[in-house]
This record gives sequence, structure tokens and C-alpha cells, in this order.
Amino acid sequence: MTPRSKMNETGASLRIYNSLSGKKELFTPIEAQQVGMYVCGPTVYSNVHLGNCRTFISFDLVYRYLKHLGYKVRYVRNITDAGHLEHDADEGEDRIAKKARLERIEPMEVVQRYTVDFHKTLAAFNTLPPSIEPTATGHIIEQIEIVKKIIDAGLAYEIGGSVYFDVAKYNTTKHYGVLSGRKLEDMIHNTRALSGQSDKKTPQDFALWKKAEPQHIMRWPSPWGDGFPGWHLECTAMSAKYLGEQFDIHGGGMDLKFPHHECEIAQAEAINNKKPVNIWMHANMLTLNGKKMAKSTGNNILPNELFDGSTELLSKAFTPDVARFFMLQAHYRSMLDLSDDALLAAEKGYARLKEGISRIEQLPESQQSSVSLDSYIASYYRAMDDDFNSPILIAALFESIKLVHLVEKGTETLTKADIQKLQETVHAFVYDVLGLTLTSTNEQNSYLDSALDVLIELREQARANKDFVTSDQIRDQLLAKGIQLKDDKDGTSYTLMS
Ligand code: AMP
Ligand code: ZN
Repeated sequence: MTPRSKMNETGASLRIYNSLSGKKELFTPIEAQQVGMYVCGPTVYSNVHLGNCRTFISFDLVYRYLKHLGYKVRYVRNITDAGHLEHDADEGEDRIAKKARLERIEPMEVVQRYTVDFHKTLAAFNTLPPSIEPTATGHIIEQIEIVKKIIDAGLAYEIGGSVYFDVAKYNTTKHYGVLSGRKLEDMIHNTRALSGQSDKKTPQDFALWKKAEPQHIMRWPSPWGDGFPGWHLECTAMSAKYLGEQFDIHGGGMDLKFPHHECEIAQAEAINNKKPVNIWMHANMLTLNGKKMAKSTGNNILPNELFDGSTELLSKAFTPDVARFFMLQAHYRSMLDLSDDALLAAEKGYARLKEGISRIEQLPESQQSSVSLDSYIASYYRAMDDDFNSPILIAALFESIKLVHLVEKGTETLTKADIQKLQETVHAFVYDVLGLTLTSTNEQNSYLDSALDVLIELREQARANKDFVTSDQIRDQLLAKGIQLKDDKDGTSYTLMS
């Protein structure tokens, strides 16, 4: 399958919803055929949860489709291994240092443990690794340089070894709140007064550099004394370093829009006087049984618990493929609720899709096609071109499976070339773009095969003993579960019903 030649023939027709304008915009990269994309990565102080995974799977879809269209994509996704404090208002302990203190291990041991977990989990979900995965601690020098520049621009002040961004001053010439649609006056009106401990001029100011108290272990020397960078700074430093002062796409979960991304914009504007990012993309949250997924409330499932079924919240284990299919059945900007029923439905749907795909290569060939295959294929591109609409793409793929059944029945016909084209295109969209793999479900199918072999054997024995009550019971109960037994001269086989 060659990438869509349409991009070259008729110009790109991909539209992406830009959180900055609140509209879907025609995607035109800064440099023809190349895309720079930055996605905020995890803070590696605990196991990645399924909510985090949803966001990274959403951007994996974006990355995969851009690549499918033939773009050369540089995808940068960072690892936050320092500077992310417990509370947004620049207060509390560093999340990684706190975990290290509680577990009596080195902060870098915490970082290593959860970075490995993150990579392992994302690989299980078949997400592609980014082109560059920079860390905050690996870019302290770059971050200090940016702080110096913002001070030089008169938009930051140093106080007692910490440096804060002067939001009010910035807002006299620019708009702090441009991304989240907030107004500084409203923010001031709605904010509590500063606690006695804070040395900021106003609560809206945010830390660029924080003085390290004697007990703070993650510390670096700087012109303002020993300290550590503010959380928002790393993404400004690393995106500029690897993608330039202006780049195409910046993504992250919806919860990062404010203050994190707002602050990133302010920092970059302060030093370069131009908007750093053309398109801001925000992926929506995953909830569990209607409530926000959060570790603190216990309303949370870890990927491993999903894969091995070791949680009371689920009736059984689900493969990463099924979980990924479940997530892609929702548009990335919609909220998605995870529940046992929803996963069971996704499992059935995915089995149906795969079963349909497996039949394409055996379709009867005709001299002429009775349908326009190109119109089916165009519907896949239309879906993805409309802001990466994976649920519509999946619906379009099911339409093609309907066609497969019609061709099998002889109601419609396809030529050999069209059958091959259908096979290649469906494969490209299911495996390359949606990132679904057969592997895990194949393993599951081998278990299913073995279990059904046992039941088929028991049915044979019952029939041999003229115990037709039992043999019919086995057949009928399997049928009720969507598994149809078929007897022919070679013995008994089964099919999963759509
Ligand atoms: P964190 O490690 O907390 O910085 O989060 C890593 C990424 O996961 C960020 O882009 C978050 O916005 C995203 N995220 C956190 N919780 C959820 C959730 N419940 N659903 C979807 N994405 C989430
Ligand atoms: Zn970030």
C-alpha cells in the first residue's frame, strides 16, 4: 500500500481541530512534507494508568496517520524526571523526590523504574516510539538559558533564589489565557490570596526556577543559586531545541491546557515574540464507570490489571488490542468511559472486524466489479482527514466487511485487482494507521481453539453414546454465546458469528 498519493495530486486535505482557534483547520506544515510534533510525556513517579495510555494512544494515531500520508514526522515526547511539584501552584514536594523519600531509594531509581514501566506498557499497546524522547534533567542548561532570556526581556523577576514569570507584565502586551480562553482579571478575581510561604508577587505568576531548600535532593547550580527548573520550562526548552522556535503540532491531555500549555506559550512568546506552535491538540480524558480515573480514589485500573483480569472492576482479562480498539472507537476529543460492558462489546466488535478481514483473500474473483472500490477507500481517508476521526474510520471498515459478505453471497462482485486493493488498504488502515495487531488475539484464539476442541470432543462422545440431550445442549449453548458449530465430512469446526 503506497501512502495516499492524493496528498501530492490534489493537495493535502487533512483538517485538524486547533484548540487555539477552536476550529478545524486545514493542515499545512511549516516545511512541505515534514511535520514537527511535540507531545507532553509522563511524569515518571508512578505506574502509567489507562488514562495516560489513552492520551498516548491518541497521539500515536496522529503520528501513524501523518506517516501514512507520507510526511516525514519528527515526533518528540519528553520524560518529566524533575521539576513537577505536587500542586499546580508551584507548591509541594517534587513528585519524584517524594516517591524516592518514601521508598528510600534514589530519585533516579524512581525515574528508571517507571520509565521502564511506561515503555513496556506503551509497547504492549503497540504504540510507536517517538523520534526523540528527551528528559528534563538532560536539559537543565537549556532551561537556565531560557530563564536568563526571559529576565533580560523584563518578564521575570528573581526573589530569594527563585525566578518567577511576571504574568501581569506579560499580559500588558500579550494575552495570558489565549489558549484556555481565560482572562487574567477573572483569574485574579477567582484566586485565593497567596499563602504566607510564597514569595511570588501575585498568585498567577509561575516558577521558572525554584530555590532548592537544603533537604531538596534534585538540585542544580544556577546564576540564582542551587535550585531546579519550573515544570513548564522543560517543554519550552526541549521543543525549541528539537523542533525549532515555531513548529507544527503540540499535543497533550486536556488537563494540561491550563496552566501547563498556557505557560509554555507565554515563555516562548516572551523570548521569541512569536507563537511557538501552529496547532495545539488536546486529547480528552478516560473515565472509569462514569468517574474520573484517579489513583487517589481507587477508581483506577492499571494496564496490567486489564491484561490479566486481576481487578474486581472487570469480569475478565482483555488483550491490549481489544483495549486499543475500544479507545479508538471514540474520537480523541470525546470523553470515554471504561466499563466491563464497553470492553466486552469492543471485544466482540474487534473479533467481527478481524474475522471479516480474514475472509477478503478468499473472495471469489469476477471479471468486473459491481461496486466502486475507490469510494469505499475514499471513505477511510475522509474519516481520518476529518480531525483523525477513528470511530468513523472503524464504521467505514465495517461497511467494507458488509461488502465482503455480499461478494461472498454473490450479490456483489469484485475483480482480482480490486480484491487485492481492498486487502492492502484495509490492512494499511487497520494495522498501520489504527495500530491494531493480530498477535495478542491470535494467542487468545489459540486458547479458544483448545477450549473448543475439548467441547467438540465431548459433543462427539455424547453423540456416540446417543446422549443427544447433552450434544444438543453443547451446540445450543455455544450458539447462544455467538459460536456456531458446523459439521461436515471433515469433522466439526466453529465460526464466530457477527
Ligand atoms: P502525567 O504523567 O500526569 O503528566 O500525565 C501524562 C499524560 O496523560 C498527560 O498528557 C495527561 O494529560 C494525560 N492524562 C492524565 N490523566 C488522564 C486521563 N484520565 N485520561 C486521559 N489522559 C490523561
Ligand atoms: Zn509539557
